[in-house]
Amino acid sequence: MRKIIFDLDHTLFDTTKWRDAVFMLLEEVGVAKKDILETFEQVYLLHQGKYDTVLHLNLLTENAVLSEKQHKEIKERYTALNFAQFLIPGTQEMLPALSPNNELWLLTRGIPRMQKEKIARSSIDHFFEERVIVVPNDKMPAFDIIDITSGDVFVNDHMEETTRAAMTFPLLRCVLFKRDDRTYEPSPPVGIEYLEQLADLPHLLGL
Ligand SMILES: [Mg+2]
Repeated sequence: MRKIIFDLDHTLFDTTKWRDAVFMLLEEVGVAKKDILETFEQVYLLHQGKYDTVLHLNLLTENAVLSEKQHKEIKERYTALNFAQFLIPGTQEMLPALSPNNELWLLTRGIPRMQKEKIARSSIDHFFEERVIVVPNDKMPAFDIIDITSGDVFVNDHMEETTRAAMTFPLLRCVLFKRDDRTYEPSPPVGIEYLEQLADLPHLLGL
């Protein structure tokens, strides 16, 4: 069965929208935007470009920006957030359309606890045969455990990573999901196809 390997952040999950919602919760309990952004950057720096809400809240509390009471209140509000609202449009139609006749995989980079939470709370976990969560900054070595065969598909929003995957695995069909906040060359690099809307993926794959 053909494998379709999906990236998570900015491909299926609108990480910017989710992060803005977290920031909004912090602002609502009275944390200054400046403190939110500074500690956000600190989490990134301390964890090699990865983010986790638990680490962020802990850091705000350690820095005495958040009181224990505010910390508890944010945690409750965060737990009540509906994560399905953060899915990229088309995800909820496209995954069930593809899952009966393909083997769906997730290949995501980040802090495992955080990535698992995004997948579970947005209710897409059951569509996937396998989930590979990569902690180092390079996703490429993870492809070795996926055992790519001819016609397998990789859907990702990251241009450089997708280009490298296309060069390293000529058998892999690489689809670059175009983000609204980026500009792209009219013609994609060799070995890559552009995808503008997730809902168009089954059609692109000839289904
Ligand atoms: Mg991504």
